Amino acid sequence: KIRGNSMAIKINFDNSFSNLPNKFYYKIFPEKTKSPNLIILNQNLCNELNLDYKDLSSSEGVNFLSGNSVLKNSNPLAMVYAGHQFGNWVPQLGDGRALLLGEVIAKNNVRYDIQLKGSGRTPYSRGGDGKAWLGPVIREYLVSEYMNKINIPTTRSLSAITTGDKVFRETELPGAILCRVAKSHIRVGTFQYFYSREDTKSLKILADYFIKNHFPNLEKKENKYFELFKNVVDGQIDLVAKWMKVGFIHGVMNTDNTSISCETIDYGPCAFIDNYKSDKVFSSIDSMGRYCYKNQPNILMWNMACFATTLVPLLEGTEEKKVDILQKEISSISEKYKNKWLLEFSKKIGLKKIYQENEVLINRFLEILESENLDFTNSFRGLIKEAENSNELISKTDAFKSWKNDWKKLIKNKSNQKEVCKTITSNNPAFIMRNHLVEQIIQELLTDKKDTLNKALVCIEKPFEKIKHYEKMYVGPTKEQEVLRTFCGT
Ligand code: AMP
Ligand code: MG
Repeated sequence: KIRGNSMAIKINFDNSFSNLPNKFYYKIFPEKTKSPNLIILNQNLCNELNLDYKDLSSSEGVNFLSGNSVLKNSNPLAMVYAGHQFGNWVPQLGDGRALLLGEVIAKNNVRYDIQLKGSGRTPYSRGGDGKAWLGPVIREYLVSEYMNKINIPTTRSLSAITTGDKVFRETELPGAILCRVAKSHIRVGTFQYFYSREDTKSLKILADYFIKNHFPNLEKKENKYFELFKNVVDGQIDLVAKWMKVGFIHGVMNTDNTSISCETIDYGPCAFIDNYKSDKVFSSIDSMGRYCYKNQPNILMWNMACFATTLVPLLEGTEEKKVDILQKEISSISEKYKNKWLLEFSKKIGLKKIYQENEVLINRFLEILESENLDFTNSFRGLIKEAENSNELISKTDAFKSWKNDWKKLIKNKSNQKEVCKTITSNNPAFIMRNHLVEQIIQELLTDKKDTLNKALVCIEKPFEKIKHYEKMYVGPTKEQEVLRTFCGT
């Protein structure tokens, strides 16, 4: 079954998922690609994962990253899962266009999955072709690496390549493959898959596997599955609060896109808000606004309730007691989230602590942004100049003047100008991987231009500062550039 001859490429795969029972996956090789070509290879990530950058950028490396050659110690497989998509139950999903090649232990001693996305059909492809085109691959690469740089937990991107094959969507497009790296690809939907089949034995194997790899300190704990639940809830609260902080709209918060390792996963129709609108939706298929900006914390709770359900068979105690403790945990989400949100947004306006006045002040600021159609990122960042009493104003309206007055009083009372500016600077990125830039980069790549891509890669490296001569990378879109609709990355 060995394919290819990538003897020069050496990766210390250490595959634990493929040792789980057959029910968890389907072992299958990636499809061959015609003429793979490297667009981006992530040098920092190679280093973190102990992978040789030079080897991977060689033609043999590119063959590996395109799935053309499969290493002897790799064990490619498509993971199975189920999930609620837009609230509707789908009993079977799974990696329909992705394959797990194996796992590596990184320099930080953490285990990471190495996956190809866009590598061809699997038994879980349903009607799909198992492929990806250049657009979604580039979007995922840029946005995920950006998220990592602004300290938001996320899957990573090791490489983006074009395959030389055509992919058919509404038109013919260049095929591409992303090499995705994650602490885990286990989702709420993976638990739901076994729960819905009343397969408690597999459910336990799954939970034990996850605990062993990700929360080894829970292994000996009493009621470890409840402890697992609490940890995942806390991780998801942290994650969604961080999304809200930077105006990120995930777009498809289905349970199959909700990672148990609490990393942002599946950059399909995602986008960052430009002009602030609390019920902003980008995704073309989210017609009801289920996954709009302000609804993300509610959906987090909904998804955690789905996860809780799957754990009932594993918990100890009477049915009543089990449901009761899970219910209590779910009910605590909204207050925990609120506190996290309040702390993160307090920092955005320059305050490291939560004072009584903060909440009203933050909400008033957001109302001003919304009613005056102002840019989310640049307005928060603009508070630096406001704190310095510069004449670069966020707004000239009376509402803003009055807000500024109250804000100034508070920051004077609780902190000092230098501290406030420092806090605003480190909590509001100057650079946001805006959707109109992503679109521009994709359009340029279609004609083999890399100008904006290269600029974006530089900006991503230092998101909290403005790079000289790159002014255009920091402004919101013009009316013509504005992207109104985004699409799932198929
Ligand atoms: P998503 O909402 O993008 O996470 O995808 C939902 C499901 O559709 C997953 O099971 C994917 O593997 C599958 N899927 C998405 N795009 C394709 C494709 N082009 N070919 C096969 N399966 C796909
Ligand atoms: Mg998905």
